Amino acid sequence: MRKLQSAHGGYDAGSTYENIYEKDVTLALVKDIGTRLEANGYPVVYTRDSDEVPWPGNEVEDLTERVRISNESGAKLFVSIHTNAAEVVNGSYGYEIWGKMKEDTVVSLSKNILTELDTLGYSQNRGLKDQNLSPIQVLQNNKLPSILIETGFLASENDRLYLMDETKRKVFADKIADGIMKTLAEEEK
Ligand SMILES: [Zn+2]
Repeated sequence: MRKLQSAHGGYDAGSTYENIYEKDVTLALVKDIGTRLEANGYPVVYTRDSDEVPWPGNEVEDLTERVRISNESGAKLFVSIHTNAAEVVNGSYGYEIWGKMKEDTVVSLSKNILTELDTLGYSQNRGLKDQNLSPIQVLQNNKLPSILIETGFLASENDRLYLMDETKRKVFADKIADGIMKTLAEEEK
């Protein structure tokens, strides 16, 4: 079983650009990733599958609840989907993956997904980022091999137009699903 998390939701829009909300982009991506996994026989647990969130409207309880769902899920992997904050560095673009890079499964999962995304000719690969440098709550307290994918910058026109294009976004989601499935196949050997 895989666990998929579309970041933010409900009261929390995440990063925004004009009228585009991170929470909507991540939900669309997660639904497409989950659909492909399920079509290939891999059940998926979602922290949310709509804009309704079951937890209270504050960030600490929100993230605590997501980690609890993950730790009790019996899943093999945890994948959290984000778009990057506009304000990180102006002019930034590309995708990157955060995780505990001392864990072998985390590294192979991250590399498998980046290798798949690199085939798209989309934006740029910003590489693996070790969350120990800057701990992220959903990863730090998560018992599963867990990663956080920053899929692109909404403030980057290049990234935004790609992620807002339904057809391109679907292919992007499929590539993430393929990287997840490749890792699960390797783990089961
Ligand atoms: Zn986010």
